[in-house]
Amino acid sequence: MSNESLANLLKEERRFAPPADLAARANVTAEAYEQAKADRLGFWAEQARRLSWATEPTQTLDWSNPPFAKWFADGKLNVAYNCVDRHVEAGNGDRVAIHFEGEPGDSRAITYAELKDEVSRAANALTELGVEAGDRVAVYLPMIPEAVISMLACARIGAAHSVVFGGFSADAIAKRIEDADAKVVITADGGYRRGKPSALKPAVDEALTRAAGVGNVLVVRRTGQDVAWTEGRDLWWHETVGRQSPEHTPEAFDAEQPLFILYTSGTTGKPKGILHTSGGYLTQASYTHHAVFDLKPETDVYWCTADIGWVTGHSYITYGPLSNGATQVIYEGTPDTPHQGRFWEIVQKYGVTILYTAPTAIRTFMKWGDDIPAKFDLSSLRVLGSVGEPINPEAWVWYRKNIGADKCPVVDTWWQTETGAIMISPLPGVTETKPGSAQRALPGISATVVDDEAVEVPNGGGGYLVLTEPWPSMLRTIWGDDQRFIDTYWSRFEGKYFAGDGAKKDEDGDIWLLGRVDDVMLVSGHNISTTEVESALVSHPAVAEAAVVGAADETTGQAIVAFVILRGTANAEDDGLVADLRNHVGATLGPIAKPKRVLPVAELPKTRSGKIMRRLLRDVAENRELGDVTTLTDSSVMDLIQTKLPAAP
Ligand code: ATP
Ligand code: MG
Repeated sequence: MSNESLANLLKEERRFAPPADLAARANVTAEAYEQAKADRLGFWAEQARRLSWATEPTQTLDWSNPPFAKWFADGKLNVAYNCVDRHVEAGNGDRVAIHFEGEPGDSRAITYAELKDEVSRAANALTELGVEAGDRVAVYLPMIPEAVISMLACARIGAAHSVVFGGFSADAIAKRIEDADAKVVITADGGYRRGKPSALKPAVDEALTRAAGVGNVLVVRRTGQDVAWTEGRDLWWHETVGRQSPEHTPEAFDAEQPLFILYTSGTTGKPKGILHTSGGYLTQASYTHHAVFDLKPETDVYWCTADIGWVTGHSYITYGPLSNGATQVIYEGTPDTPHQGRFWEIVQKYGVTILYTAPTAIRTFMKWGDDIPAKFDLSSLRVLGSVGEPINPEAWVWYRKNIGADKCPVVDTWWQTETGAIMISPLPGVTETKPGSAQRALPGISATVVDDEAVEVPNGGGGYLVLTEPWPSMLRTIWGDDQRFIDTYWSRFEGKYFAGDGAKKDEDGDIWLLGRVDDVMLVSGHNISTTEVESALVSHPAVAEAAVVGAADETTGQAIVAFVILRGTANAEDDGLVADLRNHVGATLGPIAKPKRVLPVAELPKTRSGKIMRRLLRDVAENRELGDVTTLTDSSVMDLIQTKLPAAP
């Protein structure tokens, strides 16, 4: 960014108080902020005691060699024991841990007692295959219970998992296997997507012609489709895991034992292997799940729609909910199979009380229309969460109204693969919420917004989001590249973690995320956030979704180019509409933010976690060759956009 802070353009005045009944029984109250402020490390030491330790830690934070942190370093624990066994020992073995809903409509309920047996069998199988504590295991699975079981089996024996999104190309798998030096790969014949079985194993087979060092491939049979087989290397899960004993004694590992490596989604460049460890990570994943979702394990039915290949699936499907003894739904497929009401049918079927999803999904539901969720009974819902991108105020309000019956608090949770767990979010029983703002750092977390000189901006100002104190679930390094870890996160501002996101503080000091710093546009000397322009476009009734980029421009430095997906009835060929959209942005944010071009498109390029890849749109807008597209959900989208693009004026 230049030397000018982000312009503060968007004004959003709507406010929503927490529901009184929720507030009265909330897991976490306003007092937690005070407590953590008075003694931050003491606060986290207390949260660590929510876990079961084989050896209780006496140390909290070791920050003697920054930015390399150690949390609870002299404690020992087994992460899988915390997520499974201790609930069985506490008498909750019959509680359903996972309601699995397959895309074709098959379902399976797995209790905590059954989960313990399955995880133990899988742990025994991995041990039989020679996997030892400290090794890495790659996981490339659809959204089926075996994904969670595999992760916990690794954790149980002290091996680190590296989950690769099911659907990434052979090339992406090969790179991740090689970078992490994985010993075993766990995959499936395929999974169900959009109404048909889609193959997974061929991509692993191809990846393994390039990546060396993998001894065995464990294959879950999900679809029954034909698979190529390499004798001696490939093993069926149901045979190899199935014949194991359900007895397995969990060993206690150091709090800093590596738990997983996860590669970032690559919206801004080459993916980074983010390393997370055990005790601190689990402490924060568990606490934040308890606090932000107000989870009551005896009565709630929780559903996070993320994929396990994304950090949200790690922290808020596997580790957070299971460490808290939650009952949760896991759904295999897409939201429009076999019909556009599938999500709401699932909420109704299982009586889901807490729903955690992404802005990209919410905008899609908006596009499909209010009448679809209206056909289902969603009255069980009591808390709604959002994660992955800034949520446009209009999408936030739509979510609260059409899904949450205008009574459920919406928690907009800001965090990253690197932070491991939620960092900035409202608390549902405490915070008066504001559509589009993640608002405030959680108790025990220190976040602020600074300018180019690392000076904290006053209320009303904009700049860069930074984290000013270490936190328990922070990444420990980039796998195999300590220097890149230092350079990427700790060099921009001395002693502070640079998140890479633009942000502003409003008059109350609440934080509004404004998108990636790499995406910020510089128009006639003003820094303008992509998020604000996109939110202005989405607030127009004809627009369902928008992606905005700055393209090189001779007169203004950069010019704003907007790609928009229109709602059902709007006409893409209507020139009047394009002019109307440009004027709408100008009227909402001011003339400086008026897009030079508005291009209606059918789809936008997105990562697997639903993030818009603006860098690719920038390539299009500037008539450049496309950058790395390997982490796109569907790379054919780019062909569509390029062919529809009129020549630059
Ligand atoms: P890469 O680092 O390779 O570009 P990525 O940052 O997209 O990948 P993630 O770690 O999945 O990968 O995403 C974290 C980013 O997502 C945040 O830095 C932020 O830009 C965005 N984000 C997540 N949640 C929110 C939220 N609630 N509000 C605003 N932005 C969010
Ligand atoms: Mg990132």
